[in-house]
Amino acid sequence: MIQPDDPITAIPGLGAQTAKDLAAAFDITTIRHLVEHYPRRHQDLGERMNLEDVEIGESATLVGIIRSWNQKRVRGGKLKISEALVDAEAGGQFQITFFNQPWRAQKLQPGVRVAASGKVERFGRLLKISNPELEAVGPRDDVAQGPRLVPIYPATDKLPSWKLAAWVGQALELLPPWAEHLPVEILDGVDLVGLDEAYRWIHQPPDQPSLKAARQRLRYDELFTLQIGLHIRRHRMERDTVGLDNHPRPDAVAQKFLDSLPFDPTGAQQRAFEEIGADLGRDRPMHRLLQGDVGSGKTLVAVWTMLCAVDNGRQAALMVPTEVLAEQHYRTLTTLLAPLGVNVLDGIRVELLTSSTTVKQRRRILSELLTGQVDVIVGTHALLEEGVRFAKLGVVVIDEQHRFGTGQRIKLKEKGTTAGGQADLLSPERDSLPDVLTMTATPIPRSIALTAYGDLDVTTLDELPPGRKPIVTQFIPDGAQEQRRPRLWEFVRSQVAEGLQAYVVCPLVEFSAELDAADATSVHEHLRDVVFPELQVGLVHGRLKSDEKESVMTAFRAGTVQVLVSTTVIEVGVDVPQASVMVIENAERFGISQLHQLRGRVGRGADKSYCVLFAGPNVTPEGQERLEAVAQTTDGFLLAETDLQIRGEGQLFGARQSGLPDLKLVRLLKHRSLIEATRNRARRLLDGDPELEEPHHLALRAEVDRRFAGLDDLEALATG
Ligand code: ADP
Ligand code: MG
Repeated sequence: MIQPDDPITAIPGLGAQTAKDLAAAFDITTIRHLVEHYPRRHQDLGERMNLEDVEIGESATLVGIIRSWNQKRVRGGKLKISEALVDAEAGGQFQITFFNQPWRAQKLQPGVRVAASGKVERFGRLLKISNPELEAVGPRDDVAQGPRLVPIYPATDKLPSWKLAAWVGQALELLPPWAEHLPVEILDGVDLVGLDEAYRWIHQPPDQPSLKAARQRLRYDELFTLQIGLHIRRHRMERDTVGLDNHPRPDAVAQKFLDSLPFDPTGAQQRAFEEIGADLGRDRPMHRLLQGDVGSGKTLVAVWTMLCAVDNGRQAALMVPTEVLAEQHYRTLTTLLAPLGVNVLDGIRVELLTSSTTVKQRRRILSELLTGQVDVIVGTHALLEEGVRFAKLGVVVIDEQHRFGTGQRIKLKEKGTTAGGQADLLSPERDSLPDVLTMTATPIPRSIALTAYGDLDVTTLDELPPGRKPIVTQFIPDGAQEQRRPRLWEFVRSQVAEGLQAYVVCPLVEFSAELDAADATSVHEHLRDVVFPELQVGLVHGRLKSDEKESVMTAFRAGTVQVLVSTTVIEVGVDVPQASVMVIENAERFGISQLHQLRGRVGRGADKSYCVLFAGPNVTPEGQERLEAVAQTTDGFLLAETDLQIRGEGQLFGARQSGLPDLKLVRLLKHRSLIEATRNRARRLLDGDPELEEPHHLALRAEVDRRFAGLDDLEALATG
C-alpha cells in the first residue's frame, strides 16, 4: 500500500532520476501530484483490429512497430509529406501519412511501438491511415481488444504519455480507496460520483459517461474548496483586523467636492459612493476593487474616497505604477479640488512624491506627512520607501495594481497592508488598518472576479459618462497600408486644423535590427521632417528623463505639440480630451487589453474619435483575431472575455493565482454557472459553521487547508 502524500519513488521501479525529471517537468513530487496530473484528453482507440479484418473507409486502431520514415515535398515544395511504414503486430504492413508535420518523424523513431487510429484507406497494395491519432504505446502496454479510452497526458520527450499512464495505473492500484471529504449534506444535493471513482475514472474511464462524471466531480471539488477557502480567509481577516471609521460626513469636503463638479455623477458612480461609503464606515478595513472601463470615471471615485479620510481627520495616499501617471493624477487632483481651495491656507494639501522629487522637496514632504500637514499624497512606489511615514493614514488607493511588479507588490505588503505589522503605510493608530481601494481599468470577467478575486468586494462602473462618442476603430492589414497611410496623415492634418490632436504609438523605442517593428525614434523623425513639417511633432518614451517626459506631455496637453509619437508609456490614465486620433503601429505586438487601454487615450472629449490599428507583415492568425476583436467593439468587458478565449486563462488569472490553489479542470468562461453555484453553496455551508468545526465538516476542513497550505493568506488580499 502507498499513501497520497508518499514521495513519487514509492512507486515500484520509479527511480531517483525519473523522480527528478517529474519534478522538473511537472512539479510532481508526491503520489497525489501524479494522480492530479490529469490527462489532457482521452484517445478513443476504436476497435483494435488485425489488417485482414479492417473494412476500408471505417475507423480502426492498428498497432505495430515503426519500420521507417520517408519525407517528401510536393506541389512545388509547399506541402511536406511524412510517411511511415509500420510492421503490424498481427502480420503485414500498413502506412501512416502526415501532412506538414515533419516533427512527427522526430518524435516517433523507427522501432517505437505505436497505436494508430483513424479512417483506413487503401493505397495501392497497402492499407493507409492519413493524419491518424498516433500514440507511442509501451512494449508491454496492452492495447485492449475492444474499444478503449487511452489517457493522453501532458508529456515530454523523457516522460512520454504512455509511461505516465503506466505510473498512474500503478499508483491507483496501490492506493487505498480515497476518503470522501465532501459532507453528506453537499453530496446529497448534487449529482456527483464519489471521490475514489472520480480519481480512478479521470485516468482510466470505462466509458465516456464515466469520464465526464469524474471530471465533473473533481471540478466541483476544485471550485467548492476554493470558495470555502476564500470565505474562511475573508472571515478571518474580518475577525482579526480593526479598521478606521472614515464614513462620509454630510456637508464635509467630500460632498462639497461632488457639488462643485460641473456634471452629475453617473448612476454607476453613485452606486460606488454608496458601496464604498458603507465600507468606510465599518469597523473593518475596506478591501474593495473598483473596476471600470477606461473613461468610466474611476478617478472621481478615488478622489471622493480619499476626501472621506480627510473629512475624518486622516490622510490618504494614491499609489500609481508610473511617474507619468503620478504626475497626471497629481494635476487632475489639484484641478478637481481647485474650487475647494488646494495647497492654500485652510485648503486641502496635496503633494506628489516620485523618484524624481528633489532631495530638498522630499525632505519637506516627508516631514509634513509625519506631522499630518499633508492631506493627500500621490506617488509611485517611492511611497513605499523607508522613511515615508504618516501621521494618520486613513485611506490607500492603488491604481492599476496589476502593473506593479511582483517585487513591488511584496514590498507593499510588507510595508503596509498586512495585518499586525506596524509598517510605514500603516496608520499609527494602533493595530488598525487603513481602508484600501484598488482600481483597475482592465475589466475582469465575472467568472474571474468570483474566483481569483473572490475574497475582495468588487464595485463595477458599468456606465460611461453621457455624451461619449464611440471610437471608430479600423484594423488595416499589411497589404492595404501603402495606400492608406497617406490618406490617414491627411486626415490627421485636417483634425489638427480643427484644434484636435493625435497619438502615434510604436512598440519599440529605437531601431532594432532583430525586431522587425516600428520604433518611436524613427517614426518621430519621419513624421516631423517628412510628413508634418508644418506641425509640432513630439516624442515620449520610457528612456527619457522624467523632466523631458514631463515637458513633452505638458506641450501636448497645451496643444503646442499636435502629434505625439510614443511608446506604451501613455497606456494608462493619460487624459488629454482634445486628442481624437490614435494610430498604433505594429498593433499585433500588443495584447487585447493593452490595445484597449491605448485606445482609451482618445474619445475622452466631446469629439468623435478614431483609432487605426496597423498590423505588420508577420501577423499570426491569432494576432489577426485579436486586432479584429478590438476593431469590432469598444466594450472592455466583452474584450476581456474574448481575450480569455483567445489566450486561455493562465495570464489573466495569473497575477492573482499565486495566492490561490490551482484550478486544473475549470475553464473560467465555460464553467461560470458552476462557479456561481459552488460559491453560493460554500456560503450557505459556512453560514452555519464559519470555521468548519463541526465533526462532519472536519474532513472538508482538512482538504481546504491542504489545498491552501503554503499559500500566503494575506498577500493576495492585501495587494488586491
Ligand atoms: P478612468 O480613470 O475611469 O479612465 P477618468 O476618471 O479619467 O476615467 O474620467 C474620464 C473623464 O470623464 C474625465 O475627464 C472626467 O472628468 C470625466 N468624467 C468623470 N465622471 C464624469 C461624469 N459623471 N460626467 C461627465 N464626465 C465625467
Ligand atoms: Mg484613471
